Amino acid sequence: MGLISIHAQEREFALMREEMVRKQIIARGVTDQEVLQAMRNVKRHLFVPDKYKELSYRDGPLPIGFGQTISQPYIVGLMTQLLRLDEQSRVLEIGTGSGYQAAILGEICDSVFTIEIVENLGKKAQILLADLKYEKVTVRIGDGYLGWPEKAPFDGIIVTCAPTSIPEPLKEQLAEDGRMVIPVGKHSIKELVVLHKKKGRLVRQYIIPVSFVPMVDEEGLKY
Ligand code: SAH
Repeated sequence: MGLISIHAQEREFALMREEMVRKQIIARGVTDQEVLQAMRNVKRHLFVPDKYKELSYRDGPLPIGFGQTISQPYIVGLMTQLLRLDEQSRVLEIGTGSGYQAAILGEICDSVFTIEIVENLGKKAQILLADLKYEKVTVRIGDGYLGWPEKAPFDGIIVTCAPTSIPEPLKEQLAEDGRMVIPVGKHSIKELVVLHKKKGRLVRQYIIPVSFVPMVDEEGLKY
C-alpha cells in the first residue's frame, strides 16, 4: 500500500474509533474520562488479525485465532471503568489474548502485569505491545489461575476468561481497597462481578450477564 493510502486509512480508522467511543461506550453509560481517552488512543485495528481489520471498530468481539476472541469494545470499557484505576494503580490481567485490554490499561495506570496461557498469543501480544512502546505492560506465559504472587498485591485484577468460581489465589493477591472484575459462573452465560476488598473481606456486586471464553488449565480443562 502507498504512503498516501496508509494515511487515508489511518484517518478512516481514527474516525471509526471516535464513533465507536460515542455510540458504543458513552451511549451505554461509561463516563470515566480516562477510560474514554484510552479507548480513543489505542488503535484497536492493530490488535485484530488482517482479515478482520475492517471490522475492528464494530460492536462485537472478533476472532484472534486459537479459538479465542478480542472482547467487544463496550465490555472492555465497562470492565476498565469498574476497576476505578488511576495513574498509581498496579493491575493484573488474566487472559492477554490480543493485548488490546492490556494496552488500554497501560494508557491509564502505573503498571500492568498480564498472563496468557496460549504461548503463541502471549508472544504475539508481547511483541506488539513492545513495538507500540507500552513499557509499563509486562506479559507472561502461564496459568493465570495462580495469579502472579511475586508482583502482588494488585490494586486491580481483571479477568478476561471465565472460571466457574473465583480463583482463591486471585482473591489473596488483591490489595486492600482493590477491585477484581471477573466473569464467573457455571453456565454458558456468565455474571460479570466486581469484588471489592474492604477490611480484608470481599464485597460482591453483580453487574450484567456476559459471554466469555472459559478459563482453562494447561491441559485445556475448564476451571
Ligand atoms: N483480554 C483479551 C481477550 C482475551 S480472550 C484481549 O484484549 O484481546 C481470553 C484469553 O484468556 C484467551 O486468550 C485465553 O487463551 C486466555 N486464557 C484462558 N485461560 C487462561 C488461564 N488459565 N490463564 C491465562 N490465560 C487464560
